[in-house]
Amino acid sequence: MKKLIHTYGDPVLREKARPVEKVDEAIRALIRDMLETMRAERGVGLAAEQVGEAVAVCIIEVPLEMDRDEQGLLFNPGVTMPMAFINPRLVSASRETETADEGCLSFPDIYAPIQRPVEVTVDYLDLQGQPQTRTFRKFIARAIQHEMDHLAGVLLVDRMSAMKKITLSGQIKRLKRQTREQLAGQAAP
Ligand SMILES: [Zn+2]
Repeated sequence: MKKLIHTYGDPVLREKARPVEKVDEAIRALIRDMLETMRAERGVGLAAEQVGEAVAVCIIEVPLEMDRDEQGLLFNPGVTMPMAFINPRLVSASRETETADEGCLSFPDIYAPIQRPVEVTVDYLDLQGQPQTRTFRKFIARAIQHEMDHLAGVLLVDRMSAMKKITLSGQIKRLKRQTREQLAGQAAP
């Protein structure tokens, strides 16, 4: 079932996700809903907080054409999409960083250059509850880091440069106000 995307200004986005204790049918159902929601919104990643649930679950679905170098070779051969990460934890990150534009479904129409490590190793539980450790590079590594930020309550606006934040401050304030108005409307009898 497609869910509502929670946008900036909604307090749930600032919550720290609680770990999943048991990978059961309820968690898999949440992941299915998240996938449907992300696809409907044409996103490449989604964290559970963005559908209003502060649990440590995120998904990514990066088109493989975004994972190729100039020669057309995959940066992450063997990776299949979509991927679900339950209780993901950063094991290590490369010292080498890269800056690229990022967007977020919780910040519609807002994009900002964000600096991140080029390569990360992550451990997590898969859909069967099996522990996995994998290393990701380039855009896929960026997408995972963005989603893991969500699980810690860290948002695009916290990662952008001070200068970019000033440039976008009008748009960001407007979004926050719209979100707050929507929430107030939902709370009214
Ligand atoms: Zn996001």
